[in-house]
Amino acid sequence: MTLVVTEAIVLHSFDYLESSRILRLVTREVGVRSVLARGARRSSRRFGSALDLFAQGSAQLHIKPGRDLDTLGNFDVERARAELASELTRFTGAAVIAELTLRFGRDDEDPDLFAATAAALDDLSLASAGEAREATLAGAWRIIAALGFAPGVDICSECHAALEPNDAVRFNHPAGGALCARCARLAPSGRLLPAAARHALRSWVNGGRAQLGGDADERAHQRLLREFLREHLTDDRPLRAFEMWEQDPLNASPLAASVAT
Ligand SMILES: [Zn+2]
Repeated sequence: MTLVVTEAIVLHSFDYLESSRILRLVTREVGVRSVLARGARRSSRRFGSALDLFAQGSAQLHIKPGRDLDTLGNFDVERARAELASELTRFTGAAVIAELTLRFGRDDEDPDLFAATAAALDDLSLASAGEAREATLAGAWRIIAALGFAPGVDICSECHAALEPNDAVRFNHPAGGALCARCARLAPSGRLLPAAARHALRSWVNGGRAQLGGDADERAHQRLLREFLREHLTDDRPLRAFEMWEQDPLNASPLAASVAT
């Protein structure tokens, strides 16, 4: 048994047996982990608010080699991020961020993934309801870049020719990004990425933010991101939080409403 003390963020949590909970964490030192919080349901004294979704702090993990489930010794919360639960568009966005990190992260040290996840959740905490969708897109692309598969935006993803920075380009998912005109003629599938959308994507993969042109623009970006993720997933399991996010939260489906409470 090894004791690891690491910064961690709670990304998923569910009841286990009568008295415990299982959490899924992203950590700075040991990547994505499943941990058993023994007695967490019986007594709130032991962990307090530490086990709330999106809380970040210092966690003690007891890790047994060859076992998938660690045991949580202690968790000192440094950042609760209660703002994420107080507004539906922020919450659904944060659920998308958590889903991406859990789905693509590994159980190895990954400080970049940890930092990108923390920054995405921090930005979302500060976003107004109207800004939350852009903040989610920004966070998702930042996580993709931290994972090492950011799309090519300024270099052709097939032949590596430099692309004019202000041109519209064809975005080809199997190739992993933008194509030059010659390669685009050979691979005619994929979406046309207008210059403004390309600027936004460039900013997001570099950890920045972008101004979008409204609802239609945001929906086009959601679609592009969904198609990109689908290309990189190794199985057909749905991205449930992502699907919920793409539904209009103002139409507040019963499913979305039940997750927010
Ligand atoms: Zn090319």
